[in-house]
Amino acid sequence: MTYVITIDGPAGAGKSSVAKAVAHRLGINYLDTGAIYRAIALILAQAEVKPDNDEYLREALTKIRVELRDGKVLVNDFDVSGEIRTPEVDELASVYSAVPAVREALLGLQQEQEKHGSIVAEGRDIGSVVFPDARIKFFLTASPEARARRRYLERTRKGENANYDEILAAITDRDKNDSSRKTAPLTVPEGAVYLDTSDMTEEEAVTFILEHVKSEGNISQ
Ligand code: C5P
Repeated sequence: MTYVITIDGPAGAGKSSVAKAVAHRLGINYLDTGAIYRAIALILAQAEVKPDNDEYLREALTKIRVELRDGKVLVNDFDVSGEIRTPEVDELASVYSAVPAVREALLGLQQEQEKHGSIVAEGRDIGSVVFPDARIKFFLTASPEARARRRYLERTRKGENANYDEILAAITDRDKNDSSRKTAPLTVPEGAVYLDTSDMTEEEAVTFILEHVKSEGNISQ
């Protein structure tokens, strides 16, 4: 039997690296739902489909095929995995993901990933909307300052220009958008284990989650 572990939380809480490591250690698939929202936002913005033009947006969505293949995100067979990791797309994804038509269009794609086997899925509404019946749910968070510090280090390590204050402001802004939107806002799902990683290393967070999973016994039944 397949099973799903969900990890929700705000931007920069370490969800991606933690979810990826947990999936790897459990030998199951990793689902990055943020990448799907990023890809669709990028393509809609490039096609100049405005988020408030509901009719045009719904029509455009019928022509866009997003696929996840070998850890890559493809839009109409075009690999956008690299292009979606920019501060501009951070912003676009937050705006377009608040539109109900976008969320409706992407729900099935996320849910059908379970067909390929057990998964660790991470995002904003995974334990509350996408997989409400998941066996184990986590909510990973950290203070805005700790999250901004991590993003700052991540970017400077890659040799990119980064400004801590700007990153902190962008994170606070995204938190506000993601938590206040009407459709599927960022919330702690019912029954989720709450984990504040402000003073934890990535390895400590991974160990905590794996221990918790182990304590649940055989979750694949
Ligand atoms: O997780 P990541 O930062 O890649 O997500 C980018 C944006 O996509 C988030 O800020 C959020 O607005 C949106 N998102 C969402 N629901 C998800 C995953 C991401 O609304 N399940």
